[in-house]
Amino acid sequence: MAKKTTRRSVSFSQSVNLMADRAFQSLNMDPGVASAIKSCDSIIQVNFPVNIRGRIEVFTGWRATHSTHRLPSKGGIRYAPMVDQDEVQALAALMTYKCAIVDVPFGGSKGGLAIDPSRYTREELQVITRRFARELIRKGFLSPSTNVPAPDMGTGEREMAWIADTYRQLHPEDINASACVTGKPVAHGGIRGRTEATGRGVVYVLREFFRHPRDVRAAKLSGGLGGKRIVIQGLGNVGYYTAKLLQEEDEARIIAVIERDGAIVNEKGVPVEMLKQHIIKTGGVKGFPEGRHIEKGKTALEMNCHILIPAAMEGQITAANADRISARLIVEAANGPITYEADEILRAKGIPILPDAYVNAGGVTVSYFEWIRNLTHIRFGRMERRFDEMRGAHLITALESIAKDTVPDSIKEKIIHGADELDLVRSGLDDTMRLAYQEISATKRENKEIRDYRTAAYVVAIKKIARSYFDIGVY
Ligand code: GLU
Repeated sequence: MAKKTTRRSVSFSQSVNLMADRAFQSLNMDPGVASAIKSCDSIIQVNFPVNIRGRIEVFTGWRATHSTHRLPSKGGIRYAPMVDQDEVQALAALMTYKCAIVDVPFGGSKGGLAIDPSRYTREELQVITRRFARELIRKGFLSPSTNVPAPDMGTGEREMAWIADTYRQLHPEDINASACVTGKPVAHGGIRGRTEATGRGVVYVLREFFRHPRDVRAAKLSGGLGGKRIVIQGLGNVGYYTAKLLQEEDEARIIAVIERDGAIVNEKGVPVEMLKQHIIKTGGVKGFPEGRHIEKGKTALEMNCHILIPAAMEGQITAANADRISARLIVEAANGPITYEADEILRAKGIPILPDAYVNAGGVTVSYFEWIRNLTHIRFGRMERRFDEMRGAHLITALESIAKDTVPDSIKEKIIHGADELDLVRSGLDDTMRLAYQEISATKRENKEIRDYRTAAYVVAIKKIARSYFDIGVY
């Protein structure tokens, strides 16, 4: 495997720590406690051989448990050719802060396997995944009560189903076996709304942002989401749902989509669903008829727009291009898309950034709902839905008899409708993202020395983590 080359002068995990340091400083936190919170609890590297088409290939994977003040520790597993220990460690730390920001009672963890999944068949990937899962389980890095993976870049519900099945085979007596991993297919203990959760969460973040006129004005924006010119990088799971929902539900204008093989630009709006289908069919954005293709896709990050949403991967906005960014607001749907140096430049330029550890927390939030569903062994809404519908019907009968008039059908339907699992998941996700925004925004407003949302979000997280360390007697 080629050594990872990086144009950053600090590594990804250093970048996360430096960003957190600003919050530790503004909290005047004891350096010992700060380093206890920042340090990674444990990390394993596993190397395992798999017979691929008659040849033995050795795969390398990692799982970092950054914190265990709440259990299980939670975070995805990514499959990517260049993944390494530093990246996994950085992402695990982000998970710790992320869970604390949105009040999900988990510690932070992350896993990675150095692999290019496109080079292997489904069957081969299944063997590799099951083998990786076995390594993690045997070494105590995967179980419903201590460490629960989820999808991330390069993995999805298919891999999660294989992992859950591997765990079940090794622990047939564990009645909570299916809670060992989240992001499973719905037919295998998954929850409705998990696949779209991160993207939908990003949309809820933006809707809440636009409910705060003072924050909107500070970003030199006005009005609501409708008609806003948006540039998005990455049409993978997170970027796709973010762009699609913004376009279809909020009438925002997606003026550019950046992908691996370039960008598609269309001032009138790129039809997101159509572009996604084109990517699935052809493997890239090239040749898409509904927009202009730019070979050097990354330059589209610098386009003049209202909102820039990096939703692809880390290290996309660096000291090399930060100065040329001209968006009014940046919303980090990916983990770590802006390096520490770039963050400093953007802060100086006065471009507000809604940070990753908050913005993309919708995924782990719905993972939390899935984990609870698995432990309770019952679908959300199963007990009360019909009861609520009956009560709604009684209410309408009562209203109509008092008013001697009929309630219009459209209102009737809304009152009678009993919430199903998807309604409840979306409601819980919306509530979570809204409350976290309010906490972050208030923290920023009330502390004059905190000038940016990232530091405010870290302050929110660190206060909760420090409190929990204190309660369990760490200091
Ligand atoms: N991989 C996702 C993240 O980075 C989801 C983690 C989870 O659901 O545990 O937040």
